[in-house]
Amino acid sequence: IDKPPAAGAAQKPTSASKNHADPPPPIVPEPEDGGESYSIGGFLGKGGFAVCYEGTLARNSRVFAMKVVKSIMPQKKMEEKFRTELQIHSKMRHPYIVQFYRAFAFEQSTYVVLELCPNGSVMEMVRKRRCLSLPEVRRFMIQLCAAVKYLHKRFVAHRDLKMGNLFLDHNMNIKVGDFGLAAMILSDKDAKRRNTLCGTPNYIAPEVLDKSKGGHTQKVDIWSLGVICFAMLTGYPPFQSKTQEEIYKKVRSLAYVWPKEADHNNYIPDEAKDLVAACLNLVDEQRPDPDDIVEHPFFNMYDGCIPRQLDPACRTSKPVWL
Ligand code: ADP
Repeated sequence: IDKPPAAGAAQKPTSASKNHADPPPPIVPEPEDGGESYSIGGFLGKGGFAVCYEGTLARNSRVFAMKVVKSIMPQKKMEEKFRTELQIHSKMRHPYIVQFYRAFAFEQSTYVVLELCPNGSVMEMVRKRRCLSLPEVRRFMIQLCAAVKYLHKRFVAHRDLKMGNLFLDHNMNIKVGDFGLAAMILSDKDAKRRNTLCGTPNYIAPEVLDKSKGGHTQKVDIWSLGVICFAMLTGYPPFQSKTQEEIYKKVRSLAYVWPKEADHNNYIPDEAKDLVAACLNLVDEQRPDPDDIVEHPFFNMYDGCIPRQLDPACRTSKPVWL
């Protein structure tokens, strides 16, 4: 749904590619004197340039996710992406954002020690389940809004919010990850400079497509929230097509279609459709802020329960509410 299946827990750490770091040794020490050391465990997944493994801290047996990248990358652009990721992610601290602990170099690789999210991503969950129930969508949206509010208050735009970057911790809480495309946007001048095309085609906001519009702001993330909400409810992204150009055409003309009730086994209330429409506004200033979103009637409907807990079993099967 997000992108060609590049990553996933079921994947094996396939043969070395020129982009990816070599598999780490069984024990990885931090290079400084008296530094910690980690024993490398199971493979977690692979992205565009990172490979992720479990890592256990020798001192106290705490388990982390260790993101491994080549210290010298084949492409300048990747190196830049990684530098931004470290700079911005390392300053973030929030219950719904993957916690960044440290980064260090060992041999030819750089290791990033992150909070472990053992329950995969929302993308994997939606793939397995086809679509999510209303209580689950509400819970994930509320958590996501809290994380986005935190980022925007600090002038950070994530710019790549998508289901594959919403990881799930052991309690099935959302953890926003992958800050590779994030940017600090402090002023109109900054916004104007921000006119490089970034993001994933399905989730990209219209103002990012049109350079003549004069850049973009944090509001691109609110567009992505609309796309994510639609995709969790229906199981498919609102703007889908064979070619990138066709996707962009649909984005610019706001051409998305809700499933017919008869073809869809999940009832999607008008409140949910209204919330998605508010986020998918072509005029970025008119999109709601995270605080407005959580006040939307979708979260206050008569049967609008928001589960306090989710069982990890709901990664693969629809939860039964007691
Ligand atoms: P890239 O920056 O190369 O896209 P990602 O950050 O997407 O790499 O990480 C690659 C994969 O590693 C993810 O798709 C996921 O399967 C796994 N992964 C990343 N971060 C974590 C984490 N904190 N906990 C568990 N698995 C993770």
